[in-house]
Amino acid sequence: MSKKAAISKPSEGASGLTGMWRIKRPVVDQTKCTNCLLCWLYCPEGAMKRHEDGKLSISYDFCKGCGICAEVCPAKAIVIVREA
Ligand code: SF4
Ligand code: SF4
Repeated sequence: MSKKAAISKPSEGASGLTGMWRIKRPVVDQTKCTNCLLCWLYCPEGAMKRHEDGKLSISYDFCKGCGICAEVCPAKAIVIVREA
C-alpha cells in the first residue's frame, strides 16, 4: 500500500474572494523589482500575476493583505499600505 503526501498548492479563489479580508495592501515598486519571483512563489492566494513582459501585478480580488510577499522580497520592492 503506497502512502501519499498531502501537498498544499496555492490557487486563486480556492477560498472565494479573499481580497475582501484585506485591511492593508501590498504595492510593488517596479523600479526596485529584480524579477526573482519569490513573492509569486510564496503568495498563499496565487494573487501575484506574471505577465509576458516580465512584470508582476497583484490581483486585489484575491490578495488578502497578509504581507508575506513583502517579507520575502529580497529587494524590498513591496511596501504594505493601509487601505483607504
Ligand atoms: S499580501 Fe502578498 S502574499 Fe499576501 S495574499 Fe497579497 S499578494 Fe499574496
Ligand atoms: S520578491 Fe520582490 S524582487 Fe522578487 S519578483 Fe517579487 S517584488 Fe520583485
